[in-house]
Amino acid sequence: MTDKTLFQRIADRDIPADILYEDDDCVAFRDIAPKAPVHVLIVPRDPIPSLDHLTEAHESLVGHLFTVARQVAASEGLSRGYRAVFNCGEEGGQEVPHLHLHLLGGRQMGWPPG
Ligand code: AMP
Repeated sequence: MTDKTLFQRIADRDIPADILYEDDDCVAFRDIAPKAPVHVLIVPRDPIPSLDHLTEAHESLVGHLFTVARQVAASEGLSRGYRAVFNCGEEGGQEVPHLHLHLLGGRQMGWPPG
């Protein structure tokens, strides 16, 4: 048994993933079931369950996740644009209870989202 979240296990390389970027604070890897030609998850190493659990102490970390998203978008060639989104809770469509920023690109996004 492990107390780690799924995404901690990916960050720790207990289970495989296509990791594109990592640093002391976060890891970015391709979504296993991509919803767009480019679909990358940017995940803090700290297993914060969701956006609903953020405090002021997390502000620089969350900013960092967006900066990494921008860098990954550039390295993935998303010069025409992209979407970066957190799902939060049941109605927000969150399935994995470890904060993660979705980076989606490579096709025209719709609005409003489903
Ligand atoms: P959410 O619904 O916002 O919680 O997003 C969770 C995302 O994690 C989904 O897009 C899943 O496809 C993705 N996912 C689940 N398991 C894995 C995995 N082992 N490796 C990469 N992505 C995963």
